[in-house]
Amino acid sequence: MPLSGRRTRLAVLGHPIAHSRSPAMQVAALRTLGLEDWSYEAIDVPPEHLAERVRAMADEGFAGANVTIPHKEAALALSDEASERARAIGAANTLSFAEGRIRAENTDAPGLIAALPGSARGARTVVLGAGGAARAAVWALAGAGASVVVTNRGRERAERLVAELGGELHRGGPLPLSELDLVVNATSIGLRGGDHDPGGELAALKEIGLEVDQLSDRTTVVDLVYVSGGTGLVGAGMKAGATVVDGLEILVRQGAASLEIWTGHEAPLEAMRAAANAADLR
Ligand code: NDP
Repeated sequence: MPLSGRRTRLAVLGHPIAHSRSPAMQVAALRTLGLEDWSYEAIDVPPEHLAERVRAMADEGFAGANVTIPHKEAALALSDEASERARAIGAANTLSFAEGRIRAENTDAPGLIAALPGSARGARTVVLGAGGAARAAVWALAGAGASVVVTNRGRERAERLVAELGGELHRGGPLPLSELDLVVNATSIGLRGGDHDPGGELAALKEIGLEVDQLSDRTTVVDLVYVSGGTGLVGAGMKAGATVVDGLEILVRQGAASLEIWTGHEAPLEAMRAAANAADLR
């Protein structure tokens, strides 16, 4: 807890970080909660300086920090204690500083579950990808009682994920979408710079088994990627009448879980959503 009269600082650490919507979203949450003496800032930290930066933060008045690309594995490694969830996933996106110790947690996993429109129990799901976000998704869905198939461009990484966290490896060819309830994109497909190439995006999804023209209104599509105007997958899901959860909602939910850890207050989701959306317009 902060010393009285002293500002309590929070931050997001990444590299690059300039385009993160977390500061706008978290500041809106802190103001809505009336936590006027709390702040949240973006700090660009190159990988070689991460350990030194994190270890200095408690003395600089920080109560905690979010950690994003490319630091999530390193953040877990440098922590003094980590939750079972963060250790199983192998990545941390939330650090807390108290009593001279660094504690690591992963809120990407509960954030995904919280963003789903219904229970994941018994849902037949496919997770696209095998990186850190996919590991959090598989851990969360399997833990919530869903069956999970994993498909990824690189087979070895997917094999390792399934061996460590459960689920089944997709054998190749088109995914049987009529038999699936939930599709989670945890690859970077859909992230783009200035040029939007929907054809390339949908072709990359097809390469790993997802034929978007086979989506239907009985599928829920979750895309962890968020881009201005929506990804090609979000667009295809909406066109097919599927229930769609976009990456901004995932961002809001993981941020809400982090905020609750640091402040002990229930996160104001509507204010966070509005601020995350408005950050798009700047
Ligand atoms: P990683 O770099 O760890 O993994 C990237 C994944 O994307 C790998 O599975 C990789 O496959 C795959 N991939 C990348 N490019 C292609 C391509 N052209 N074709 C097919 N597959 C591709 O990243 P993360 O797991 O950390 O993040 C994944 C995405 O999720 C990012 O876009 C990130 O922004 C987003 N994310 C969003 C969050 C949110 O709050 N909304 C939270 C966390 C992540 P391969 O193994 O073959 O290289």
